[in-house]
Amino acid sequence: SPDVTLELQIIPFASKQRLLICRDISAIEKTEIMRRDFIANVSHELRTPLTVVGGFLETISDMQGEVSPDIQPYFDMMQSQTTRMRRIIEDLLTLSSLENNVVLKDETDIAMEPLLNQLLKDARALSLGDHTVTLHMDAKVNIRGSYNELLSAMSNLTSNAVRYTPANGNIDIFWQMQDEQVIFSVQDTGIGIEPQHLPRLTERFYRVDSGRSRDTGGTGLGLSIVKHILHHHQAILKVESEPGKGSRFSIVFPAQRVLVA
Ligand code: ADP
Repeated sequence: SPDVTLELQIIPFASKQRLLICRDISAIEKTEIMRRDFIANVSHELRTPLTVVGGFLETISDMQGEVSPDIQPYFDMMQSQTTRMRRIIEDLLTLSSLENNVVLKDETDIAMEPLLNQLLKDARALSLGDHTVTLHMDAKVNIRGSYNELLSAMSNLTSNAVRYTPANGNIDIFWQMQDEQVIFSVQDTGIGIEPQHLPRLTERFYRVDSGRSRDTGGTGLGLSIVKHILHHHQAILKVESEPGKGSRFSIVFPAQRVLVA
C-alpha cells in the first residue's frame, strides 16, 4: 500500500545467520510530514503581516524629526525586532524547503575561485574592518553541487566566525586538498565553544549563549541549515574549538564531488 512505510534492518548473528527486522514507521513519518508542513505554513502566513508592519515602520522612520525623542528608543526596538523576526521566518522557510528537497535540483560544476572571493568580500563587509580576513586558496579544484546552497552554507560559517570573534581578531578561510577529499574551513580567534556543546550545535535554535547570539543578529538556525545542505552534498561538518582561543569549522567534501580543474 502506498500509505505504508516500512523500515528494514538486517542484523547478522551467529555464523551465516541474519535477523530481519521490519518496522511499520508510517505513523512516525506522517507526524514528521505534518510537522514540516505546519512550520512551512505558519512561516509563510507570518510573512505578509510582518511585511506590512515593517513597511509602516519604514514609512515612520522616513518622517525624520517627527517622532518624539521620548518615543524614538521604543521605535528603534520595534524596527530591530521586526528585522529579527523576518530573519527567523526566512531561515525557517529555507530549512523547510531544504528538508523537502532530498535530491539536489540545481547541481552544476562550480568554479570555486569566484565563489570563495565573493565569500571573502562578504565576510570583510560584515566585519566592517574589525577583523583581518584572509583567504588561503591552496587547492586548485572545483566542486560539483548547488552554487546557491554551498554559498549559503559557507557564508553561514564565515558570518558566525565574524560574529563570534571580538574586534582585532583573525579569520582565515582555507580551501585545501587532503588525500582525495577537499576541505573548506573557517578558522577564527573568537570566543570558542565548550566541548559539551559541540554535538548539539546543528540542532534548531540551539545556542551556547542565547543572549549573546541574539545580540549578534543570529537566529539559531544557521548551522541547522548548513547540516541539511551538507547532507545534500554527502559532505560532513567538522568542528574543533577551544574556549577563549577560537574555533575551526570545516566542510569535508567526498572525492566524488571533487572536479580537478
Ligand atoms: P546563531 O544564529 O545563534 O549564530 P548558529 O546555528 O549559526 O546560530 O550557531 C549555533 C550556535 O553555535 C551559536 O549560537 C553559537 O553559540 C555557536 N557558534 C557558532 N559558530 C561559532 C563560532 N565561530 N564561534 C563560537 N561559537 C559559535
